[in-house]
Amino acid sequence: MANNTAPGQTFAYTLRDSRYLNITNRCTLRCAFCPKFNDEWTVREYALRLVREPALEEIVAAAGDPKDYREIVFCGLGEPTLRLYTLLETATRLRPHTQRIRLNTDGLANQVYGRDVTPDMEGLIDALSVSLNAQDAETYNLHCRPKRPGAYEAMLDFVKRAREFVPEITLTAIDGLPGVDIPACEKIADRLGVGFRRRVLGVVG
Ligand code: SF4
Repeated sequence: MANNTAPGQTFAYTLRDSRYLNITNRCTLRCAFCPKFNDEWTVREYALRLVREPALEEIVAAAGDPKDYREIVFCGLGEPTLRLYTLLETATRLRPHTQRIRLNTDGLANQVYGRDVTPDMEGLIDALSVSLNAQDAETYNLHCRPKRPGAYEAMLDFVKRAREFVPEITLTAIDGLPGVDIPACEKIADRLGVGFRRRVLGVVG
């Protein structure tokens, strides 16, 4: 499946055998380590800066034939849940054609929408990768620079609630950021009964 390579319109891209959907560049966080805050918008060979956000039909078209991929992943250089309703509608459309839909998220959707949105994901999202990023709020705030107070606690609460509705949850943290204690992050995941994945600074995908 070819990517839509019109400048500023890479709505989907393929890494290994996963198809990634790039539906927004907006974020709830302003991570100091984020490539986009370091003027780097390219992941592998894909330029992910969007000149506009794709409409539902464009996202579904860009996904290609989901059967060609092991999974569909909402990701991109932005927070997909900032377009929650488009995301859910896309997942509804793709659901019959794919075995696995994963969402990479900062886990702040409940804080953004002012309600628990995790039940909306039941039956649509098979796996969540949630950016834990740090073992405590202080370290998290230092690296992620959230726009709203209470983000760290809100993210942990999101994970607790999502356990009821999403079968597979993995917390991630980036090894190599000053002050980030990877074993302590892993313990938090253990305590919550979810998975953990250590990411490496500068390696995306
Ligand atoms: S959440 Fe992801 S895309 Fe958004 S600022 Fe942080 S690293 Fe960048």
